Amino acid sequence: MIVILKNGCTAEDIDYISIKIKEMGYTPHIIEGIEKAVIGAVGNEKNQERLKSLITVPCVEKILPVLQPYKLASRTTKNEDSIVKVERIMIGGGNFVIIGGPCSVESLNQTMAAARAVKKSGGHLLRGGAYKPRTSPYSFQGLEEEGLKILKTAKKATDLPVVTELLSDHNTDLVASYADIIQIGARNMQNFALLRAAGQSKVPVILKRGMASTLEELLMSAEYILSEGNYDVILCERGIRTFEKAYRNTLDLAAVPTLKKMSHLPVIVDPSHGTGRRDLILPMSKAAIAAGADGLIIEVHPEPEKAYSDGPQSLTPDEFSEFMEEIKPFIEASGKKMSLR
Ligand code: PEP
Ligand code: MN
Repeated sequence: MIVILKNGCTAEDIDYISIKIKEMGYTPHIIEGIEKAVIGAVGNEKNQERLKSLITVPCVEKILPVLQPYKLASRTTKNEDSIVKVERIMIGGGNFVIIGGPCSVESLNQTMAAARAVKKSGGHLLRGGAYKPRTSPYSFQGLEEEGLKILKTAKKATDLPVVTELLSDHNTDLVASYADIIQIGARNMQNFALLRAAGQSKVPVILKRGMASTLEELLMSAEYILSEGNYDVILCERGIRTFEKAYRNTLDLAAVPTLKKMSHLPVIVDPSHGTGRRDLILPMSKAAIAAGADGLIIEVHPEPEKAYSDGPQSLTPDEFSEFMEEIKPFIEASGKKMSLR
C-alpha cells in the first residue's frame, strides 16, 4: 500500500505516520517526490485493512494499493524518474552516463591505460571486475583484493569513480569499501542473499538482467535491494539467450522503454555483453539511446588481443574515443544531456 501525503506535510507528520505504519507491522519507505511525499508500507498484505485507517490522519491525502508485485520499484509508488547520484555524476532523469573499462582488472598498467582512455574521451565512471563470474572454473577468476586496490589507484589518478562486481555476500564490506557502484552480474540476478547484502551496503547498485529472466523478475530482484532501504538501483539490459547464434546474446532493446514504463529506476544498456562483438557496439548503442537508455556500459581494453576475458567485445582506446564522438549527437537528439562529471 502507499500512503500519499498532502502538500506541505512536515517532517514530524512523516515521522508520525511512519511510526503508525511500523506499529501495524509494516516497513515504511519514505519517497520524497518533487510535489509530495509518499510512504510505501511494505509487508504482509493480510493486514491491509488496518493501514487504510490512516486516512483519518489529517495530513494523509490518499491510501492506494500497489497492484504490481514490485512495489517500491513501480511507477505507482513513485511517478518521477529516479536519479542515482555518484559524486557530481547523475544517472537518470534526463542525465546520460558512460561507464567504460576492461572486463577484468588484470594489472595496474592495463587498468591505468583503460582508465586514462575512458577519462580522456569523456567517460564518467571506470568499470573493471576484480571478482569475475566465469563459466569455467579454470578461466581467470580475477585479482580479487589486489584488483580492488588497482581500481583505487586508477580512481585516484583519473578521478573516475569505479564500478565493480560483487560476486559473494561474504565480501560485501570489502567490495563496498572500494566501489562507488556495485555491479550485480547477470548470473547472480536472482542470488537473493547477495541482493539483500547489496541493499544493506547502501552503495548504489547496477543490477544486470539475468540471461533468461523476464522484466518482472528483474524488477522483483531490484525490489530486494530497495526493500533493504537502498534506493540507488540502476537496471541494466545486457542481452538474453535466444536461438540466434550470430552474436553472443540478443540485446533486448524493447526492454528499455518497457522497463521505463514499469519503473522509475534508471535503465542502462551493455552492448558489449549484449552482442559480444565489437563491430556491433556502436550501432546497438545508438539504438539503445533512441530507445531511451540513461547510459551505456562499454568494455574498453588497451590491448584487446591480450585480454584475459572478453577481448573480442572490447574497444581499444582509439575506438572508444571515436565511439564517444559518434554517439554524442544521438544523446542530444534523444533529449538527454551528458551528466556532469
Ligand atoms: C561483466 O560485466 O564483465 C559481466 C560478467 O557481465 P554479465 O554479468 O552481464 O555477464
Ligand atoms: Mn565482461
